[in-house]
Amino acid sequence: MTVKARVDSPVQQYLEALHRRVAELRDGDLASYIPELTRADPEWFGIAIATVDGQVYQVGDSRQPFTIQSVSKPFVYGLALADLGVEQVLAKVGVEPSGEAFNSISLEPGTGRPLNPMINAGAIATTGLIVGDSPQQREQRILEMFARYTGHPMTIDARVYASEARTGHRNRALAHLMRTFDIIETDPEPGLDLYFRQCAMLVTCCDLALMGAALANNGVNPVTGVRALPAAQVARVLSVMSSCGMYDYSGEWLYNVGMPAKSGVGGGIVAVLPGQVGIAVFSPRLDARGNSCRGIRVCEQISRDFDLHLFHTSRSTSAAIIRARYSAAQVSSQRRRRLGERDALTQQGDRVLVYALQGELTIGATESLVHEVLDALVGLEVLILDLAWVINVDQAAARLLADLARSVTDAGCTVLIAGAANTAAVRELVARAWPQSQELGVFQFMDSDQALEWAEDRLLAALTAPDPEVPLLDNDLCLTLSEPERAGLAMIAQRLEFAPGELVFRAGAPADALFLIARGRFEVRRPAAEQPSRRSSTLVPGMYFGELPLASGQPRSADVVARDGGTCWRIPFAAIDAGLRIRLLSTMAARLAERLAQQERMRCS
Ligand code: GLU
Repeated sequence: MTVKARVDSPVQQYLEALHRRVAELRDGDLASYIPELTRADPEWFGIAIATVDGQVYQVGDSRQPFTIQSVSKPFVYGLALADLGVEQVLAKVGVEPSGEAFNSISLEPGTGRPLNPMINAGAIATTGLIVGDSPQQREQRILEMFARYTGHPMTIDARVYASEARTGHRNRALAHLMRTFDIIETDPEPGLDLYFRQCAMLVTCCDLALMGAALANNGVNPVTGVRALPAAQVARVLSVMSSCGMYDYSGEWLYNVGMPAKSGVGGGIVAVLPGQVGIAVFSPRLDARGNSCRGIRVCEQISRDFDLHLFHTSRSTSAAIIRARYSAAQVSSQRRRRLGERDALTQQGDRVLVYALQGELTIGATESLVHEVLDALVGLEVLILDLAWVINVDQAAARLLADLARSVTDAGCTVLIAGAANTAAVRELVARAWPQSQELGVFQFMDSDQALEWAEDRLLAALTAPDPEVPLLDNDLCLTLSEPERAGLAMIAQRLEFAPGELVFRAGAPADALFLIARGRFEVRRPAAEQPSRRSSTLVPGMYFGELPLASGQPRSADVVARDGGTCWRIPFAAIDAGLRIRLLSTMAARLAERLAQQERMRCS
């Protein structure tokens, strides 16, 4: 797998500047208790960030291999949990922070159970739990597990392994001590050897960032799409990293940086911001507790600059998720309406309320939305929730929305859900929240325009009679004409009948007449790149169309179709004399101005 680094982004520039600044820091010493580690170049310094979208940013010695050491511990713990299940693992290794050094001999009094899997005792016991028929097979399984995180086969540094195997007396003592408590139930040597080999596995900073990103991505490597850890174990692994990942600096780390993390004496640190990024730093000079000095500085800085502390939550109000809120009096659907209907909607439109929501609906913001909607319920007939800009709904928010819909329908108001089909996650949650929606008085629409049209129709049905045939001289275009002009128009009008679905004209065709609708509905469809073409408006009796070329001389800009059949008067341009032409153009200009003002209101709402 080749990871493509991003070089053209502000994140990259930020990392380069940070790397330059922190490179000045020369505090700390190389780990020397494993003799081979003293061969590292103290100046090595790499930083890498991988996002859950699979973008990788890296700077400095981010491709320099080094031994993973203790950074391996949470990942092997994840494998043990996947192999044996949480109970069996907890029986052998606890999850309490020890507050002591990584190599301390801190075992639970009485049981001998190591306090957690991040100190050496706990890690050695955990490695001993990995399932396999032989030491080779166990090692193979561990290497394959890491390969799923990094996207490439892993190797072991033979010299570092041999160096630690020869000198790791303290770890050997710990393993044998745990054998006496039956925490390790068989010969401790093979498990200990495997632990040394696991710690001597070679990684790069870029590998560690991807491993962190996979944990951030609920266990799936974001570049390859391969699952490295069962989703059910991700929170457990991140929890022990949060409480115990940074040796006896873990409390302060959580306080200052606020991300689950793990460091190793090879100089690596991986930090995870769940749902977002994995961050890795490699610099082998360590502080007294065994953490990379530059690594800590880099993570503190990134956390501060980007506000990444896990517990830093911005206030969650309904304002964050309400993109727009408007009534049918303020904004109309694309369906064009006659003057009388427009007046009725202006007066009664407050009975239809639209909430256009956006972003991630979480419990906090949704809860305040619920209050706001319930307060607005008096006199409301239709509530439209437009979810077109919602990218995710968590379980709690979906429940709240379902409860809200129930309260709203109980109060006699209809709920319309629009735009839920846009995002798979939203679609699924809506389907779950309103299983048999129609019965509940909850209806779904493709988009808010169609929902709004439905709501308007409902308001108007209660207020006005069904569309009657509108005589030629009652058409909107004729209302301001003088008597002689009306007589002139009547002379040149040709009555035309259209069958259901019949095309009146097609976009691009030359234009030679305008049409006044007497009966039926006519749809204007703008040609769209993707099929089917988008309805841009529906026209009803008393309205007119095809008039713009009278002013512009341009061909038709849209298709017009008689939806269920209808009748129009066709007025040929050639038959319109100069005086009438000016009168018609000024009436059309006034209507156009009105429509533009309405669209403007819609954009600002
Ligand atoms: N192999 C090392 C040990 O057990 C790992 C220590 C570490 O990275 O904290 O001593």
